[in-house]
Amino acid sequence: MSIVVMKFGGSCLKNHEAFEKIYNITQVYKDHKKVYVASALSGITDLLLSTAQNLDEPAIVDKNIALIEKKHLDIIEQIFEEDSPYYNNSKDWLDKKLSELEDAFADIIEFGLEPYYQDYIVSFGEILSTYILNQFLLSKGFNSVYIAANYLIITNDNFNKAYPLYELTNNRVKNKIIPLLENPKEDSIICVTGFIGRNKIGYITTLGRGGSDYTATILARSIHDTCSDKDIKVILWKDVDGLLIVDPKYMPESSLIKNLSYNEAKQISHFGAKILHPKCLEAIEKRNIPLEIRNFEKPLEEVRFTLISAHSDSEQIKGISVVDDATVINVISGTMVDVPGVLAKIFKIMGKNGISVSFVAQSSSEISTSFIVKNADADRAIQALRNANLFSDFYEVYSEKVGVINITGKKILENQTKAKIFNALAKKNIKVKAISQSFEELNLSIIIPKEKLNQAIMMIHNDLCEDFNSNECKNGE
Ligand code: ASP
Ligand code: MG
Repeated sequence: MSIVVMKFGGSCLKNHEAFEKIYNITQVYKDHKKVYVASALSGITDLLLSTAQNLDEPAIVDKNIALIEKKHLDIIEQIFEEDSPYYNNSKDWLDKKLSELEDAFADIIEFGLEPYYQDYIVSFGEILSTYILNQFLLSKGFNSVYIAANYLIITNDNFNKAYPLYELTNNRVKNKIIPLLENPKEDSIICVTGFIGRNKIGYITTLGRGGSDYTATILARSIHDTCSDKDIKVILWKDVDGLLIVDPKYMPESSLIKNLSYNEAKQISHFGAKILHPKCLEAIEKRNIPLEIRNFEKPLEEVRFTLISAHSDSEQIKGISVVDDATVINVISGTMVDVPGVLAKIFKIMGKNGISVSFVAQSSSEISTSFIVKNADADRAIQALRNANLFSDFYEVYSEKVGVINITGKKILENQTKAKIFNALAKKNIKVKAISQSFEELNLSIIIPKEKLNQAIMMIHNDLCEDFNSNECKNGE
């Protein structure tokens, strides 16, 4: 029997109707072994975090705790009959967890908001929502088991952005999940909290914001490694059909990407598309575990969803993604070409200041080097370069806010495709300020003036229409 690990985000847990949809999905996948991963209810993670950061204002704290309680009680009252065991279990759990949360807030007031406390506090979101989901499935007659992921996913000590230690996690999964999945007598759904793990000495860690997608893929990988059955896939239920060719913010009519390879998906999710956590592909790629992004409203959909797997229709362009909060930093010298180590120095300065660089271009004359940082890091980056002797003495450093367009897909390797892109931009006189594509890379990045972003995307999209992996591409301006 095949295994499916499904992730339900906050928007899948928002009211009675949403839980009924989870019930329908459970019926649709009745012939699969199921692991469900849930996020916190919408807005709860932010609320927990802001409470922990404002503990010096008791009025805000009381208001937030009351709101957290109310949001969960609303759901409990909508989905359970009053005084049923599931209703009572959920309410008791909520009371117990809220009192633990208040104890934790008291600790933070006493000891300060250490990174560990932050992860512990936000973990309550998933611990509450997943327990309620588990009670819901029990109330519908399924045999459902709740497991908090800190008993499964062992991570390094990097609080707030922890990385899974797969060998240790595999041991946990082998002991706690596989016996349930392989039990021939009882068919259980395993409900696991998204987002959280623990380090080796037992402190709760989290996998980074939006990390429940990542939880689903980490579990899929560990199950793959430890279960005799290797027929496993991941489904992320979302409020959209899947990944789109262009973010609808730029093109409301954009069409769906139906299939793409892990590499292509990593490019697209890294640059912009907030639909998919970029790290989650790393977990499943080497195991060839397919991942589907599906619309929660359409559990029976057969065609309109995105499949990410080892296979991709190769000769196509997959998507256009956009970074609109970018600053390009240019370091220019007229005199010092062929000096070894200039790039090393630039990036060492960035690294030392914790500034991440996302695009690099250098002419082979080595006179000018351009790279991209987030707008929020730009001032610090420039200041650090100007303060460094080498650069202040021999180099000019200047910056500009820009738009970055990334075009992803194997077809970008063809000259014809690039010709089409530049022709499209030339039609509207849009000046390309820098370009970057590494060797045999599936992605071409171009920098253009920020105010031309919308127009540029439209032009490229329309002129490359026939090269997209979609028969729905509309050539409309
Ligand atoms: N609840 C966490 C967050 O809001 C994780 C998730 O939703 O995936 O970031
Ligand atoms: Mg979320």
